[in-house]
Amino acid sequence: MTLDTLSGWARRLQAGEISSRELTELYLDRIERLDPDINSFVTVTREQALAAADAADQRLARGERAPLLGLPVAQKDIFCTRGVRTSCGSRMLDAFVAPYDASVVERMNAAGAVMLGKTNMDEFAMGSSNETSHYGPVLNPWDPERVPGGSSGGSAAAVAARLVPAATGTDTGGSIRQPAAFCGVTGLKPTYGRVSRYGMIAFASSLDQGGPMAASAEDCALMLNAMAGFDSRDSTSLERPDEDFTAGLDRDLKGLRIGLPREYFGDGLHADVRRAVQDALAVLRERGAEPVEISLPNSDLSVPAYYVVAPAECSSNLARYDGVRFGHRCNDPRDLMDLYTRSRAEGFGAEVKRRIMIGTYVLSAGYYDAYYLKAQKVRRLIAEDFRRAFEQVDVIAGPTTPELPFRLGEKSADPVRMYLSDIYTIAANLAGLPGLSMPAGTIGSLPVGLQLIGNYFDEGRLLNVAHQFQQETGWHQRMPAAFA
Ligand code: GLN
Repeated sequence: MTLDTLSGWARRLQAGEISSRELTELYLDRIERLDPDINSFVTVTREQALAAADAADQRLARGERAPLLGLPVAQKDIFCTRGVRTSCGSRMLDAFVAPYDASVVERMNAAGAVMLGKTNMDEFAMGSSNETSHYGPVLNPWDPERVPGGSSGGSAAAVAARLVPAATGTDTGGSIRQPAAFCGVTGLKPTYGRVSRYGMIAFASSLDQGGPMAASAEDCALMLNAMAGFDSRDSTSLERPDEDFTAGLDRDLKGLRIGLPREYFGDGLHADVRRAVQDALAVLRERGAEPVEISLPNSDLSVPAYYVVAPAECSSNLARYDGVRFGHRCNDPRDLMDLYTRSRAEGFGAEVKRRIMIGTYVLSAGYYDAYYLKAQKVRRLIAEDFRRAFEQVDVIAGPTTPELPFRLGEKSADPVRMYLSDIYTIAANLAGLPGLSMPAGTIGSLPVGLQLIGNYFDEGRLLNVAHQFQQETGWHQRMPAAFA
């Protein structure tokens, strides 16, 4: 059976050409056979998946229709799943079985999705390479010597290797878009507040946002339909009328103004990536889009501001892992202080500890004004840059990452070099804007991502532009040979 996209499978399920059970078995078998080569899953929920598939088949037989009915998906292991281990890529939560479902999981289950398992990720979503996971690195299906990006590297690699048609990710500073670019899949970080954070383990709450990862923009639209929506259990969830994100995919691009920020094409951008991105932009131009040169003058401040704000929030969020209520607890604590310190020392990895220390420092009395408050002001400047840009243009486009997927171990010893992987993605998180990455070309066999950033609530437009691009090009259909 040839592998199809999520939307393709949806049509075939509804036409009765395949059952959800057959489809689920097909992907479970692929995971069993091929995942040992890339380590993209932490947990595979075979029995549960087959039961969900049977239930979906009964609903299909009754003529029921739901957006993801019978379709196999995977959840990033940052989303709580009732009765299933939710590790967040950390030793701290290695034995944690969530007592409830995250809103995203609940919504997708209600839409009929069949969860195949939980995907590997950087520990607590801190990283750009998936090398900080307690469960070992994920390998890039295009070249197993290279990283898949992070932190949603498990989801990206699993979708790229077609071990699952679609998966969820989360993006605090680029963790959906950067691995999507490195693995040659399509990923969307929605507007902050679109997708509920309830039950999504917190890293930096004012930046974290869940979103879909799949082969195509059409598939991401289908996923987002199920994921997005108001949730009273998340105080930052936005109350918006329901939207069908698949509805506007076919609009043409005539007259669409695409902003090209000067700062995203400057020094530090790999020459081959630049060329691939320019070729991709030419395709959009042929479809009627008009390029406009713009400036986002505070772009160079986004990484420094992020690495104050994100650690500050993480140090606060991760204070809850104290060995008392849940998570790892050390053996034979001498006293309470020993319980706290050893549980945390043993449970967290090096990158998480680094962030907690930076965060505690920038929030401490005496340094708060100099670092945290300053970073918040910079954050406002960055948001203002975008506000002005969107007076001139409809979407902003540029590379997702400055370079190609790098080799395992290449940046692990140098955190700052690692942090610079997200130089083009972080600003959208600081401003709360939606951003999408899609495969836009290759260098050798390695994929290159094109990033689109939209105005608030303009996910529909990003998906429309990406879909139009994907009507014209076949990059999103490419599959790594070893997994075909
Ligand atoms: N790579 C960035 C970091 O390490 C972003 C991670 C993310 O988006 N979760 O913080």
